[in-house]
Amino acid sequence: MTRNVLIYIELNNKKPAKVSLEIISHALKNFADTNINGVIACDENTMSEAVNELKNIGLHKLYILKDNLFDIHNTCVYSRVLERFIKENKPDILLMGATCDGRDLAPRLASKLNIGLTADCTDLQIDENGHLLATRPTYGGKMMATIISKTLPNFATVRSGAFKLNIQKSSQEAEIIEITPDITGLCSLMEIVYSENKPPVEDWTCAEIIIAGGLGLKTKENFDLIYKLAEYLDAKPAASRAAVEQGWAPQSIQVGQTGSSVSPKLYIAFGISGAMQHMVGITNADKIIAINTDTSAPIMKSADIALAADAAAVLNSLLKTCTK
Ligand SMILES: Cc1cc2nc3c(=O)[nH]c(=O)nc-3n(C[C@H](O)[C@H](O)[C@H](O)COP(=O)(O)OP(=O)(O)OC[C@H]3O[C@@H](n4cnc5c(N)ncnc54)[C@H](O)[C@@H]3O)c2cc1C
Repeated sequence: MTRNVLIYIELNNKKPAKVSLEIISHALKNFADTNINGVIACDENTMSEAVNELKNIGLHKLYILKDNLFDIHNTCVYSRVLERFIKENKPDILLMGATCDGRDLAPRLASKLNIGLTADCTDLQIDENGHLLATRPTYGGKMMATIISKTLPNFATVRSGAFKLNIQKSSQEAEIIEITPDITGLCSLMEIVYSENKPPVEDWTCAEIIIAGGLGLKTKENFDLIYKLAEYLDAKPAASRAAVEQGWAPQSIQVGQTGSSVSPKLYIAFGISGAMQHMVGITNADKIIAINTDTSAPIMKSADIALAADAAAVLNSLLKTCTK
């Protein structure tokens, strides 16, 4: 029986959020015997641009919940409108991004629908019975757990970067279904007194080359070479949690379970051991180069190129070559 998957597509500045597109890419590639449908909530101004982006990317149906109140995320109204929509449409599987808004919306929705929620997933598959297999780190990140929910729809949120972005335009257009929900009585406990659209910040997690440093770099001065090399190679710098804890780098560039997931073409790790909590953030990297003095470090086994060498010495000689 064909299962209906519904992906809540978050919009930022009229554009679909990267994580929503990553979920669509993954679902289209991996979920057999399913209809992949999307739902957006937006105002009149946003609608045509969002529909243009989404109408021919392989979705079966695109539902548009339209109201001028939806110009900015308002969790109380959004959760109640989506609750009604889901009760009426009864998808088998419901997915959304584990973004700030998604992390706010998903538990409220799960509670209203009285269903389970597997949050912050790093992998999703569908078994032969059509159940969602939702994988996420557990026991403080020491293990990965695959959770099957008994409630319908099977509901999960997905970490940004967990899946490869691979949107391809197709000649077949989604069926567009516009809905104007009745929002009378859905008053919000939250009154929005001021809102400002900030210019989008460059998302470093989308970089094609990422150069990361860990504790094996020994000092902040050595870690600073990561920034220099990244600049020369038009790459983005990143760090392990241990390097962040040393104060060598800000948490915003931490890769891993409690940092960001990335999917670069090339990930170069200087002095990083490759603990599971770090590796979970780079499962989608195309190629990994690891520089580590210990050939038995876990990252050396997963790397495409493993270089047994002093990380700071390699960084210094690469920089010398770059500046020649
Ligand atoms: C709940 C939880 C969440 C976590 N989340 C994250 C996360 O998001 N991201 C993350 O990174 N970690 C995370 N961690 C921590 C993780 O378990 C590791 O402790 C951390 O990744 C280790 O960082 P590291 O590889 O830089 O340091 P270490 O593990 O100390 O490794 C340093 C490496 O450098 C090598 N080395 C030493 N000297 C040199 C040299 N001169 N040249 C080259 N190599 C050298 C060593 O052989 C070693 O392999 C988490 C842990 C927990 C419990």
